[in-house]
Amino acid sequence: MSTSHSPLSETVAEATRSRRAPDFITQAIQEDLASGRFDHVATRFPPEPNGYLHIGHAKAMCIDFGMAEKFGGRCNLRFDDTNPAKEEQEYVDAIIEDVRWMGFDFGERVYFASDYFEQMYEWAEDLIKKGRAYVCDLSPEEVSATRGTLTQPGTESPYRNRCVEENLDLFRRMRAGEFPEGSRTLRAKIDMAHPNLNMRDPVMYRILHREHHRTGKKWCIYPMYDWAHGLEDSIEGITHSLCSLEYENHRPLYDWFLDQLGIYHPRQIEFARLNMTYTVLSKRLLLQLVEEGYVSGWDDPRMPTLRGLRRRGYTPQAIRTFCELIGIAKTDSVVDVALLEHCVREDLNKSAPRVMAVLRPLRLVIDNYPEGKVEELEAINNPEDPGAGTRRVPFSKVLYIEQDDFRESPPAKYYRLYPGNEVRLRYAYYVRCTHCVKDAQGNVVEVHCTYDPATRGGQSADGRRVQATLHWVSAAHAVEGEVRLYDRLFKCADPLEVAPGHSFIENLNPHSLEVLRGCKLEPSLAKAAAGARYQFERLGYFCVDSADSRPGALVFNRTVALKDTWAKIARKGME
Ligand code: ATP
Ligand code: MG
Repeated sequence: MSTSHSPLSETVAEATRSRRAPDFITQAIQEDLASGRFDHVATRFPPEPNGYLHIGHAKAMCIDFGMAEKFGGRCNLRFDDTNPAKEEQEYVDAIIEDVRWMGFDFGERVYFASDYFEQMYEWAEDLIKKGRAYVCDLSPEEVSATRGTLTQPGTESPYRNRCVEENLDLFRRMRAGEFPEGSRTLRAKIDMAHPNLNMRDPVMYRILHREHHRTGKKWCIYPMYDWAHGLEDSIEGITHSLCSLEYENHRPLYDWFLDQLGIYHPRQIEFARLNMTYTVLSKRLLLQLVEEGYVSGWDDPRMPTLRGLRRRGYTPQAIRTFCELIGIAKTDSVVDVALLEHCVREDLNKSAPRVMAVLRPLRLVIDNYPEGKVEELEAINNPEDPGAGTRRVPFSKVLYIEQDDFRESPPAKYYRLYPGNEVRLRYAYYVRCTHCVKDAQGNVVEVHCTYDPATRGGQSADGRRVQATLHWVSAAHAVEGEVRLYDRLFKCADPLEVAPGHSFIENLNPHSLEVLRGCKLEPSLAKAAAGARYQFERLGYFCVDSADSRPGALVFNRTVALKDTWAKIARKGME
């Protein structure tokens, strides 16, 4: 695959351009409607149910459903379930759920290629009768060995010139289950010297004595994808069959089949697949990660699957915005994963309530604060959304702060807590550090400070300024929880770049998951519902894990940290 790694600034520039001019697919559809080639728009999203959907599929869905919506048409959800060896009902159910979660509307239009098997079979007999297909007794190995190469023509099968009667008889007996798996195929009779290898007598049917998740034992011959796909589009009256670039050189074959059969013809338009840094987007490789236990499942929050992203805290809107920004292109490129992270950050910034949580707690004792006193301080739920209101957070003599927010000997430009320094506790008071207490090993276990009662709410009456504001949680009121911090699943931008004999598995990032237990959360989080999203002040966006979190044993996933390298680079790119 020839891909170019586009720096962030280029992607932003491209996104800016594409917001001005309509993309090439929109233009093509506009032309078709203007010329009268089509008078409506019908598209489809055609996943094979052999794995869970990933962010690449989200891009395809945004295009398929997006174009239908843009032109007031319809988009079908169609399962390309032609290979019983790899497909399962579990995947069908998960895909339907994921498409719905993304918010795409397919109404009642859930279709299955397997519902068309009988019609496809009849069309295959048609082609045989027209002398355009033949039963071939070569083994799969022999078929590929005689295909030829890009520079050399293939060799014709010795069975190529069987008569129509013999072909019909053999094909019917294939269907009846008389022959073992792999012993025969039905092939299209096109041209073994064709410059496009897909046109060199491609296999249309193979014998597979397998039970299908929908048709059961009804069939023991199954259509090949290339034979089936164009027919499915034709049956459903698809006007614009939008697919990724790898199908470009299959298009002449789809056209050939439809022309030979003399049936309705959609227009196929190809777009570039989504590739993303630090990510693999192939169901085969994702399945390997799951099966070999490198991740906890298809919904592991580090996975680029829609389930993984959802569990991680991504919103459908953030994913849609991402797909909009990357636009639709004709050439493959690699998108920086930082753009996806940027999109979810922007979305959650508007919608996620702020709360305080201390991930690596250190006791802070306010020596001059009355023992046993508790104040309820007013905290703003979301400065971006005045309608989100305020809440009350308990404050008392003993608090937790982050270990990182105290240094006994501060490095240069360290403005947080150190002996003698004064900081603001968010929504509370100014406190000045007096000293710290250490254990036998010399670790700081407790920090002591005094507070200034005149700074309630975090403002000093005398205009005295501090250079840091820390988040905190009252020790007596804190709720405990587990927090899972995620880093990229792979340690290099292109995980598939490996030396011969090596596997992408070696590029896994050994530090992609860090589990913190005994984190201290503000008490309002005690009732946090599964899937709920928050901004932990100063730390990032987090959501309640939908699989492992229980009331009383909360588990949070970090969706994304606050720091936005993307926004910085993007601003530069715009200058
Ligand atoms: P994979 O290689 O991950 O198995 P696939 O293409 O085999 O993907 P399908 O289930 O056949 O997966 O894909 C359904 C639709 O999604 C197809 O139209 C395909 O072109 C599109 N699609 C799959 N991956 C991507 C991607 N990375 N970017 C854009 N579209 C994609
Ligand atoms: Mg596929």
